[in-house]
Amino acid sequence: MATRALHEGHHQDLSDSHCEPIAMTSAYVFKSAAEAAARFSGASKGNVYSRFTNPTVRAFEQRLASMEGAQDGIAFSSGMAAIAGVAHAWLEAGKNVVVSKDVFGTTLTAFRHYFGRLGVQVRTVELTRLDAWRRAIDSNTRLVFLESPSNPVQQVAHIRSIAALSHAMGALLVVDNTMLTPVFQNPLELGADLVLHSAGKYIDGQGRCVAGAVLGSERLVSDLRGVMRTLGSSLSAMNAWMLLKSLETLQMRVRAMSASAGAVARWLQQHGSVRGVHYTGLAEHPQHTLIGQQQRGHGAVFSFEVGDTREEAWRFMDALQLVAIATNIGDTRSMVTHPASTTHCRLTAEERRQAGIGDNLVRLSVGLEDLTDLVDDLDAALARADIVPRELQESLATAS
Ligand SMILES: *Cc1c(COP(=O)(O)O)cnc(C)c1O
Repeated sequence: MATRALHEGHHQDLSDSHCEPIAMTSAYVFKSAAEAAARFSGASKGNVYSRFTNPTVRAFEQRLASMEGAQDGIAFSSGMAAIAGVAHAWLEAGKNVVVSKDVFGTTLTAFRHYFGRLGVQVRTVELTRLDAWRRAIDSNTRLVFLESPSNPVQQVAHIRSIAALSHAMGALLVVDNTMLTPVFQNPLELGADLVLHSAGKYIDGQGRCVAGAVLGSERLVSDLRGVMRTLGSSLSAMNAWMLLKSLETLQMRVRAMSASAGAVARWLQQHGSVRGVHYTGLAEHPQHTLIGQQQRGHGAVFSFEVGDTREEAWRFMDALQLVAIATNIGDTRSMVTHPASTTHCRLTAEERRQAGIGDNLVRLSVGLEDLTDLVDDLDAALARADIVPRELQESLATAS
């Protein structure tokens, strides 16, 4: 993967510069009228217009496809544009899409609101309940869509079994692999038909742009390209170039972030002000065996409970100096967010309770800061938040 991350998708024909050039162009020159006609009819291959294809965007698509072990890939202007592209390609009135309940919030809104009103039925199921997937997927299902591990409580789907259930009914399984990247999980190897990324997260990794991508077989990607070039959700060459360069360091960045995340999670586990830590990288995770079968590593986003109330969680967040309060993930700089009042504020209190998102839950995206500095910042903020220690609380509860 390291070599492919550096060398796949080179386009030396544009110039002999060692670093890939950026093809900032909307159109391409044809040698003759006949050649223009041949490109439009599809009889000869080549660029026509940058809404369809662009050499820099193509290099990014090929490099990421290679890293995911896919035949081909297609880039989109954002993760949501990629999801909408997939939905437009395969959903239609009278058919249904089966989605795990705890996907990225806007994903569910997109399916429910914008595709629901076109007559598509949207069914949601709990990620870990195979019986619920079995009941929901039927012969009218066109797409099955999930994220594993889920965000922010890190539950894991049995991808192979859900792929088998989907294929038995003729549906396509799409896995959003934003959280783990191809470095830690290859959903296609586990039976998924398409793998999707919000590429402005770990793939860019420096919080500079919004982008999306879908990888899979040549046939499925070609169906998607038809949608993308018609609906116009193309990625810009400039952003594709940043992402192309970012893929070169993806493995190093996510491995370093993941190592820090593991150390921080274990440190938080033993902290008296922290009640529970939800992370696939901990041996105590209830799905430890499945995680070992599907993932080669763990992401750097996880969640934990601070004290018992929203006030305590907020006091802790406000006291952080190094770690920023921001609703993003996968940046080189660490960030925290309070899911109950931000990313999940549109759920009812009951829906949040079911999803395990308490008022005291904090999500952390671990970056590349020195581990000691990071732990020092968390430690100082927990001290300043003035939380009743777990042990004291337990003994108070026993006493009463
Ligand atoms: C951010 C995100 C998306 C949406 O991607 P955008 O690039 O913001 O449109 C989809 N899925 C997951 C898991 C995300 O984190």
